Amino acid sequence: MNEDEATQHAEQLEAARVLFARPVSFVMGAVAVTQLPSDELPEVAFAGRSNVGKSSLINALVGQKYLARASNEPGRTRELNFFLLNDALHMVDLPGYGWAKASKVAVKKFQNLGRDYLRGRPNLKRAYLLIDARHGLKDVDKEPMDALDKAAVSYQIILTKADKIKPAELAQVVAATQDAIRKRPAAHPIVLSTSSETGFGIPELRLEIMRTCEVTL
Ligand code: GDP
Repeated sequence: MNEDEATQHAEQLEAARVLFARPVSFVMGAVAVTQLPSDELPEVAFAGRSNVGKSSLINALVGQKYLARASNEPGRTRELNFFLLNDALHMVDLPGYGWAKASKVAVKKFQNLGRDYLRGRPNLKRAYLLIDARHGLKDVDKEPMDALDKAAVSYQIILTKADKIKPAELAQVVAATQDAIRKRPAAHPIVLSTSSETGFGIPELRLEIMRTCEVTL
């Protein structure tokens, strides 16, 4: 990056910071795809195993502690939760998958809800698939990736809890993950790293979302 590009990048990061400091509100929790809010605004969605740090990441993006409900109990978020930012875009918290406590029937029901949403939402610009940086991709993550590839929904992997491992280990997990998704047609080739605890990667993710939703201030 030359000096001009670096200046421009810094300006864009600042614009994204301003966007995510604008008013944000909880719109609704949908338990069926028939209940979704208007599809006129651009939308991004967050998916991942329960406990991956999804609520914490959404809260970190908007700089609030309690917007998305963070919970230690896997699988407590079982709705599609819609958040409206600056009257300009929706962020959607999808039900966590892969938890052991819920019954098989319940698991299926929530998986179907997430899948039906991902398949049929015309304004969905990108799904973010959250993966714990300590673990990398696991078998349980393959099913949602297969579904996203099949539905041709653009998705990008975000490693969470990056503060829990050393930078060198993180670089290895990023490389291994990028390698593993290379042949997946709908996967964005770049794997992002974040920590909701330290704020690492959060400004860059804000900018990614701003660009993906083509929001200008
Ligand atoms: P969700 O079930 O995916 O919504 O996960 P939560 O956001 O509730 O987070 C699960 C647990 O991981 C909580 O105890 C969080 O405090 C913790 N956690 C989430 N993000 C981070 C992070 O970036 N770093 C660290 N160290 N812990 C995190």
